[in-house]
Amino acid sequence: MTRIFSGIKPTGHLTLGNYLGALRRWVEVDQHEADALFSVVDLHALTIDHDPARVRRLSRQAATMMLAAGLDPELCTLFVQSHVDEHTRLSYLLECTATDGELRRMIQYKEKSAPARAAGQSVRVSLLTYPALMAADILAYGTDEVPVGEDQTQHVELARDLAVRFNQRYGHTFTVPKATHPSVAARVMDLQDPTSKMGKSHESGAGIIYLLDDADVVRKKVMRAVTDSGTDVAYDRENSPGIANLLEILASCSGGNPMEPAGVYESYGALKKDTADAVVELLRPIRERYAELAADAGHVDEVVKKGAERARGMARPRVNAAYEAIGL
Ligand code: ADP
Repeated sequence: MTRIFSGIKPTGHLTLGNYLGALRRWVEVDQHEADALFSVVDLHALTIDHDPARVRRLSRQAATMMLAAGLDPELCTLFVQSHVDEHTRLSYLLECTATDGELRRMIQYKEKSAPARAAGQSVRVSLLTYPALMAADILAYGTDEVPVGEDQTQHVELARDLAVRFNQRYGHTFTVPKATHPSVAARVMDLQDPTSKMGKSHESGAGIIYLLDDADVVRKKVMRAVTDSGTDVAYDRENSPGIANLLEILASCSGGNPMEPAGVYESYGALKKDTADAVVELLRPIRERYAELAADAGHVDEVVKKGAERARGMARPRVNAAYEAIGL
């Protein structure tokens, strides 16, 4: 059976981008068709300035949201990364396999470190080594496929390179994984800045739809989405990114193709209204289930505790084998 691993960072409230780009497929397809592990990757939340209490709160919230969105602990393994020591144990070996040039080339490292440096702030070493830890997350489980949004492609490719290099140098230890992406909405863009992705850790939430936003807030954000100066509702990511983003969101919510609704609308207002309605309907059951689950934190804690035990059992033999192979 195909082994799948994927994760979400607890750096903010989960967004529509997380759901359409990743979570929905985990729920609808992956947990049914594969042996799937899904993790709240809390160690990755420490690469930038962080508040301890907030990270802890957001971790539980992310696990709760993953359950609310439909992950079923009977079908998949849901756990918190820091509860399974094998991730950091293996990460070090992969830091000894990767080169600094390789890590410095990562787009996310460049995007996140440059503004910090420009503002005279220091950059944590872990921001650079983050992809080695992510490779450990993936390789520890003998993962075949990593279902992620497009923003993560480069990191999964690095995990592939490290697996191949380690295997060649020290003997076959790791499965070589590959990234998979949803066909629509693999990159949901910010509604206020449709040239950058809708990311949960952005400063301003005006262009971001959070999964916990209520119907009024969703409608307001979609109706105020930045569009283009024209009036044509055509699907053109390059020249009309705001409209293309709305068309993708609408198509993704209703399971269609963004080219289909493009010809149907005569005004931006009508497209926005239907997109807002589709998002509200999509999120309604998730928000209801979230409220039920959040009222019983003990249940969520129990689910992730059991998940960590199962994950540890799966990771330990391979990580031990890697220690052995590398000469320890
Ligand atoms: P974030 O950028 O929100 O911090 P994470 O790194 O926690 O996201 O990613 C969780 C999953 O959600 C990953 O598979 C990532 O590719 C996906 N994802 C995040 N933002 C988007 C987006 N705007 N569009 C599509 N997928 C996204």
